[in-house]
Order: sequence, then structure tokens, then C-alpha cells
Amino acid sequence: MLDKKTDLGDVTRLRVLDCLRNHGSLARKEIALDIGASPASVTAITAELLGAGLILERQLAPTSGSTARGRPRVMLNLNPEAFLVAGVKVARRSISVVICNFLGEDQSTQTIKLSQTRQSAKDLSRAVHAAIKSACELAQTGTGSLAGIAVGLAGQIDAPRNFVHWSSSLTENGLAFVSELQAAFPCPVFVENDANLVAKAEQLFGIGQSYENFLVVTVEHGVGLGIVIGGQLYRGKRGCGAEFGHTKVQLDGALCQCGQRGCLEAYIGEYALIREMSLGDPGTTVRTARDISALASSGDARACAVLDRAGQMFGIGLANLINIFDPDCLILSGAQSNLGHLFADPVLQRVAASTTDADGNLPPIFIGDLGDSIWAKGAAALAIEQVAASKVAAIRNPPH
Ligand SMILES: [Zn+2]
Repeated sequence: MLDKKTDLGDVTRLRVLDCLRNHGSLARKEIALDIGASPASVTAITAELLGAGLILERQLAPTSGSTARGRPRVMLNLNPEAFLVAGVKVARRSISVVICNFLGEDQSTQTIKLSQTRQSAKDLSRAVHAAIKSACELAQTGTGSLAGIAVGLAGQIDAPRNFVHWSSSLTENGLAFVSELQAAFPCPVFVENDANLVAKAEQLFGIGQSYENFLVVTVEHGVGLGIVIGGQLYRGKRGCGAEFGHTKVQLDGALCQCGQRGCLEAYIGEYALIREMSLGDPGTTVRTARDISALASSGDARACAVLDRAGQMFGIGLANLINIFDPDCLILSGAQSNLGHLFADPVLQRVAASTTDADGNLPPIFIGDLGDSIWAKGAAALAIEQVAASKVAAIRNPPH
């Protein structure tokens, strides 16, 4: 959202845009009431935003019985056509792209397969570039029409510096991953931890719209956490986000892909489930969490035991989060096949047994319902926010 360096006038301009995003369509005096600003300043700001093409004005015919007889009501909306962005999610086996307008409406979506789960920054940049180009073609536009691109990666990402400390999708560590993409596109390119992007999607478009303080736990190949406190994404001092998957749940426990032992992810990540299946049966043919879920559903004892242990470890992890944050709610997000066994009664019983709840009420735990596109959509949400901030700053400092 906003950092400390943002100009105070810009803050108010962005609050007007946020207000219109949340409410859809409002008159100027309703905006003034909602954001607690004077009608005069809202009139001045909305004139600037109209001039910048970020909002639109339309006149509503007066309703019958209106006291303001004969005078149309002037309503303001975000301008959907203000700009286009691309949101990109790099997953283990695929890249998903969504092209969105300023309202966050999908113009096209595209998913391409990745031949390798981990590759060099150069090769991954090429694949991301091709995926964006293809998504733009589907939206019947060119890459030159994009005003911003955001890429979500798993791992430790310093988003404000666009710097990747470590990612399970890259063979190199410690690099400015977007610099090659930046050279290929005329618009700004941002990179962010993918769990933070899911929190951003929930905040702008999903369950998180109703909460100020919430946690989003993502379960995919690994396990991530997005933290929203007081309506702001919390990224930590180095901007790395929260490494929930690498919190320890077992002393000297299972080996994690980060190189340490006993991490939560080493028990519940997809790779951990597959490894556990193959330890008991080296000839196993399971390749995905979905395969293991299907086996468990058919009564396979080993698959049931693997999922049960994962569920118990996950319950301990969630209880730890509730004990630390006391959040308004928890949102679990990921492919449904990864979540079924993690949202089961034994897991919730483990959570209840492991929390020190003051009044006997656990915070609600929801399954996110934004679908598989939530990752790319979260990236689009970040791009929309960044581009809007730069367009608002340009009102104050117009380019010469
Ligand atoms: Zn780890």
C-alpha cells in the first residue's frame, strides 16, 4: 500500500480511488463523508483525477420524490480503461498470466507449461516474456499497452528493491530477477513473494475485503503466509514476507528444500507428501498431492497416514499463528486437492487443542474462494496499486 515517503496529497488522492474501488459509484459528498475530507478538497481532487483519466463522471436522472428537483445526481466511478496491467504467477510446473484493467476485470488469462521446475533467471525471464505476450494477444492488445507488470515467485523476495534472495523456481540466488524483463518491456516490472500476492488478492477482491487484520496461508508446492495488519501488508524489515513454511515444528526433523530440518513445509508441502509416500514404497507412482488424495479416498492406508500426519503438523502450525497474531480470521488458499485433508475435523481439533484462547472462540478459518487464478490476480492487484500510485504522483509532478 502506501509507504512513509508518499506525499500527503497523494495519500488523499489514493484514498479517493480506494473509496471508489470499494463502493463502485459515489457522489462527491459521499466520498467526502467516507474518507473524512472536506467537500472542497474532494472537489479539487476529483477534478485532478478526472483530468488524469483515472475516474469517470456520469449523471444520474433524479429519482422521483427527490428534494433536489430537476437536478441530476453526478456520480463518480473508477475508469476501467485508465490502464492495463499483467499479473504473472510462476508456479512449479506452469506460468499463469492475467491481463486486467484498472477495475481488476480480467481481459484475458493464459497458462503455459514449464519444462523444468527450476531454471536460470535468463530462461525463466524468457518464459515469462512469452507468456505475457501470448496473454496480450488473447486480449487483442500489444505488450506496449501494458502500464505495469507484477510477477509472483515463491521464496524470499525483497519486493521494494525488486530483489530475489532465494526462490525455488530459480537456480541462482541473490539477483534482481526483473532486470531482464524490465529491458524487454517499456513499463515498470515488479516482483513479490507469491503468498503476499494472495493476501493482496484477498484484500482487494475476496474474503479479506471485510477484515482489517487477517492471515492468508497458502499451500501449494510449499507453504506461505501473507500478513495483513491494520489494512496493510506486513513485509518485515527486509521485505521478505513471512516464511511460515520454514517455522520449525520438529527438532532435527524432516529435511526441507531450504536445507534445514524440521520445517512445517517438510511435512505438508506437496514434495514432502510425495517423498513420504516413496519412503514407504520406493516403486510408488504418485506424482502429485492429488494422486495421494485419490489413494487416501480409496482407503490406501499409507496415503491416509501421510495425509493424517501432514494435517496434525498443519494444525500445530495454525495454532502457533493464532497464538501469536490473534487475527480477525485465517484464510487458507491453494489448489483444493492440497487443502481437503488440511481442512478436516482432526486438524481443527488439533488447532483448538493447541491454542491458548481467552474466551473459547477460535477466529474463523475460511477456504479462499477466488479460484486457481488468485495467484496471478494478486500479482495484477499489486501492479494496479503501483501504477495508480505513479499516475497519482504524476498529477503533482507532471512529466515535462
Ligand atoms: Zn525450510
